Amino acid sequence: MSTEEFYETWAFAKSSKEGEFEKIKIARGETGPDDVEFDIKFCGICHSDVHIAQDELQPFMKTKYPCVPGHELAGVVTKVGSNVSKFKVGDKVGVGCIVEACLKCEQCQKGCEEYCLNGHTMTYNSDITHNQIRTKTGYTFGGYSQKTTIRQDFIIKVPDSYPLEQAGPVFCAGITMFSPLKHWGALKGGINVGIVGVGGLGQMGIRLAAAMGCKVTAISTSPKKEAAAKSIGASNFVVSSDPKSIAGQAKTLDLILDTVSVSHDINPYLSLLRVDGTMVMIGAALEPQQIRGAQLMFTRNSVAGSIIGGIGTTQECIDFCAKNDIKPSIELITADKLGKVYETLLGKNDSIVRFVLDIDASV
Ligand code: NAP
Ligand code: ZN
Ligand code: ZN
Repeated sequence: MSTEEFYETWAFAKSSKEGEFEKIKIARGETGPDDVEFDIKFCGICHSDVHIAQDELQPFMKTKYPCVPGHELAGVVTKVGSNVSKFKVGDKVGVGCIVEACLKCEQCQKGCEEYCLNGHTMTYNSDITHNQIRTKTGYTFGGYSQKTTIRQDFIIKVPDSYPLEQAGPVFCAGITMFSPLKHWGALKGGINVGIVGVGGLGQMGIRLAAAMGCKVTAISTSPKKEAAAKSIGASNFVVSSDPKSIAGQAKTLDLILDTVSVSHDINPYLSLLRVDGTMVMIGAALEPQQIRGAQLMFTRNSVAGSIIGGIGTTQECIDFCAKNDIKPSIELITADKLGKVYETLLGKNDSIVRFVLDIDASV
């Protein structure tokens, strides 16, 4: 349990759905015996930040304001509690999407904190429920901020060789792809994987699946992304808006990870699956879908879903990235550009970079 004290730090927040980002002071719980305090140096900008800061996820989630987004934190340890032996001052560390879970239930015990039966607390916009982190508002503030204090169980060690500015995106975009790839058998290689949506998650999915020894098909609405997708490991490219392009790859894929950030018809993608293939929903497709049972029946296909990944698997993911030289393409930005970056992510664009907020440069 943390102490009762707080310290002040600054953060970039939106105070309403329509408002611009502004610099505000926030209070974080002082470092308790099980906690790690670190200076956040970089924070990746996930499309989920856009959904949540703009309050787009209702009825599943309501946004609390002020909202400090950011769940791709990378930084340097400044203080550790008396029970912490795994981390020391000066270590490079990161935090992804989870900052609390019960740590006792069946799912937590097997390392799946993301499916904690008592609910995991997200890094921002989540009510604090397990008394492992504290803010004065009772809900969490994310990584667009100077400093944070988080319980050691949710801290990831960044390998020495891994550049800190590229580490943040591994903690959401990377693990969100790594976890389903591992779960559905891609880690041992030899299967055909399709990645739908070549954005922040998609670029990590292509790189990871290729490094695992899988044949990767990138599936995109943007024909202009073909060269970029192939340069990072895709061997095939399908233009999803072109029925001929889809038909050309029919029944070729064992696993599809769908990262599209808007509701869309998944039926054309199902036609790409082989017998026994699985389509995994990952992007925020909030509208109900119509799927013909008969289509699944004749192919024994499954439609599934997956959310981020557990803490141990996240460590495995960045260690895999370090070993296989997998680094996201990033573009560093300062906080005054946040509004523009959100607009870019909301629109259709032909770039595959993950934007990363440079905290020190934003002061
Ligand atoms: P992103 O960088 O914006 O990429 C999303 C991609 O979706 C775009 O690059 C685009 O790919 C495609 N797309 C966008 N608008 C589209 C449209 N109108 N029609 C068809 N395709 C469109 O976003 P991201 O950060 O990768 O996140 C992707 C989604 O995953 C978001 O909804 C995010 O909230 C969600 N997410 C889920 C989890 C989880 O645990 N399940 C974790 C993180 C993020 P093409 O141009 O190639 O078509
Ligand atoms: Zn994310
Ligand atoms: Zn649990």
